[in-house]
Amino acid sequence: MKDEMIVRSYAKINITLDVLRRREDGYHEVKMIMQTVSLYDRIRVRKLKREIRLNVNLPYLPTDNRNLAYQAAQLFFEKTGVQGGAEIQIEKHIPVAAGLAGGSGNAAAVLLALNELYHAELSQDRLAEIGLEIGADVPYCIYGGTMLAEGIGENLTRLPQMPQCYIVLVKPQISVSTKKIYETLDMRQVAEHPDTNGVIRALEQKDVKGIAIRMFNVLQQVTEQTHPEIAEIRSRFMELGVEGTIMSGSGPTVFGVFEEKTAAEKAYQVMQQRYQETFLAETITERNGTGS
Ligand code: ATP
Repeated sequence: MKDEMIVRSYAKINITLDVLRRREDGYHEVKMIMQTVSLYDRIRVRKLKREIRLNVNLPYLPTDNRNLAYQAAQLFFEKTGVQGGAEIQIEKHIPVAAGLAGGSGNAAAVLLALNELYHAELSQDRLAEIGLEIGADVPYCIYGGTMLAEGIGENLTRLPQMPQCYIVLVKPQISVSTKKIYETLDMRQVAEHPDTNGVIRALEQKDVKGIAIRMFNVLQQVTEQTHPEIAEIRSRFMELGVEGTIMSGSGPTVFGVFEEKTAAEKAYQVMQQRYQETFLAETITERNGTGS
């Protein structure tokens, strides 16, 4: 019987991000279209008798229960009652605190891997429920692909798959706090909202251009106020013939959508000269925890 697995933990981008209102409890009600892209962290999960051990190839990331992957393992054993442990090794490629749900994806990948290694046979829905205790983006990361996320992000509806296209991601060397961005967001100043239904129609029609021109993130203007680099990257993308470009999540990663591989490769090369953390990816339909 297998006692070890290597899984891929994919990044997500926001095709749209809308904030509907601030709830009494301080959380924001959102409506966003999420998409998995082929940039991934590699995670090795090995069965241990008891304890949970974690190591990451980045020295500044925690390896105790502040790490979302560690929390996922803890919750897995707690919820299933399975007697066991896990050694988790994470090789990060997804930039950290970048708006790409890297940490949430790692948590989802660990839940999926442990479910398989220990034959716990929890359904995806149950894993998503457990994941929600770790963070609002974890349920989405369990399913992956193209989805509409509502509520605080946990209320998910599968959408028609985004047609295959190329995504160039640029992460400027700045850090933003998701919490701060949401706190700074003044709902009275949000003049424009994404045309979410328009994007869904374009998805139904497999119309990459129609999707890309409608991409919109209400948090972008908030992050741009303090970080003008976001707008700069977007204008560079426009000079490079992008179909559409926006910031992902609360930033600071900005991505551009390209229909043609050659145009994406050109943009990747140009951007890489200026921004060290530039990645060329594609849209994918796979979920976390698959692949090798
Ligand atoms: P989101 O899009 O959900 O806001 P993000 O991509 O902006 O997520 P993450 O990369 O998930 O942000 O990291 C946010 C914080 O979470 C980091 O500051 C980091 O210290 C912490 N963290 C905990 N576990 C992990 C992990 N496995 N990988 C990356 N960051 C982690």
